[in-house]
Amino acid sequence: VRTTLYLGIDFGTSGARYAVIDKQGAIHSEGKRAYCAPVGDDDAATDWASSWRAALFQLLADIPPVLRPSISSISIDGTSATTLIVDSETGELLAGPFLYNESFPDALPAVESIAPANHTVCSGSSTLCKLVSWWTSSSSGGGRPAAAAAVLMHQSDWLLWLLHGQFGVSDYNNALKVGYDPELDAYPSWLTSQPYSRMLPASVRAPGTPIAAIKDDVCSQYGLSKKCVVCTGTTDSIAAFLAARSSEPGRAVTSLGSTLAIKLVSEVRVDDARFGVYSHRLDDTWLVGGASNTGGAVLRQLFTDDQLVALSEYIDPAMPSPLDYYPLPKKGERFPVSDPNMMPRLQPRPGSDAEYLHGILESIARIEAKGYNLLKELGATAVEEVFTAGGGAQNDKWTAIRERVLGVPVRKAPQTEAAYGAALLALKGANSLAS
Ligand code: ADP
Repeated sequence: VRTTLYLGIDFGTSGARYAVIDKQGAIHSEGKRAYCAPVGDDDAATDWASSWRAALFQLLADIPPVLRPSISSISIDGTSATTLIVDSETGELLAGPFLYNESFPDALPAVESIAPANHTVCSGSSTLCKLVSWWTSSSSGGGRPAAAAAVLMHQSDWLLWLLHGQFGVSDYNNALKVGYDPELDAYPSWLTSQPYSRMLPASVRAPGTPIAAIKDDVCSQYGLSKKCVVCTGTTDSIAAFLAARSSEPGRAVTSLGSTLAIKLVSEVRVDDARFGVYSHRLDDTWLVGGASNTGGAVLRQLFTDDQLVALSEYIDPAMPSPLDYYPLPKKGERFPVSDPNMMPRLQPRPGSDAEYLHGILESIARIEAKGYNLLKELGATAVEEVFTAGGGAQNDKWTAIRERVLGVPVRKAPQTEAAYGAALLALKGANSLAS
């Protein structure tokens, strides 16, 4: 009997990756493809869509043929707020992709006039601003009303659609930035009363919910099973969180990459736009997140990665450093202190580089602790255990410092690839069919 397998695909900011896992979570195959960046700027947007499509099918072709018939389900994550406008009659791309970080400030006043104050849609790069901006420009000007068959798709909806072919399905993680209310499990009335609301995905499901069987042509071309089921996806950062498999309230993942981002599983939903704190739904719990501008970018301004390893050798993590810094790569902090004018504080610099690094690592750990404390003050479940992802997770001395400063166990996350998290969603979808 062949082992049943589950496929996850991650469409991140710089490339696409896949992971094929079994029920126990063991990886059977993984791989990645870079996007072919758009060349000219004429058709840049269309080119993004074609390069994602190309990456998707290249990855399917990269999976060892012997494994493909055993794949029972597929899920895909994409970058949050990356949006396409598609003709639901022809499947043709009408506009976009509007990338996750593209901003449409022209739409902001209209969005702010309908949404509650400080709602996550009230940011120029939100999916809703993208939709409103497109709607406004296509319904005015030439006088032609926006195409009747036009629908909005998130990046992962569109990629999944290439595999299953049905319109109108999304997940509540991707839909958050278009205004979907995951607590009501519905679009709010301030949104459904808008004329463009008919463009929104009608069926918004939990991530990892079976949508439909894979299309016949895809299945025969790649030697996949006819029974292979395509499941709803999520955003890339949630998929990376899911990879750590820490879904109990109180569990958290700190990502120590260029910036410091924390994500905590909480029984209570907390949102506070002042600090950029908001919650995503995770089945029956909430994933609360916040991101500071401190993190590895500052370390990289001061030391090479090799120096970081060498200098860390001299640090005694049991000894608190008396140095009190606020390491920032440039002016401005958002979380756990909201101050756009905050200046980096990296003085006084001691004679010893090891002491300097110790002071910086300890100061970043204090900011991390302050971050978890702020979430608790805002009403979230207290942190009990922290997994670590990103470049900083490699540093055992830092982990030990953080454990002392945070006062909870801190470990390197066994898995941090978003593709692995997407594969877990595929597994969840397959399990829901079996039960
Ligand atoms: P990104 O957010 O850019 O994807 P990564 O997760 O790749 O970041 O992590 C890179 C960061 O990790 C760099 O900013 C670097 O300074 C930091 N880093 C690398 N090695 C170490 C180390 N041994 N100790 C602490 N930080 C490290």
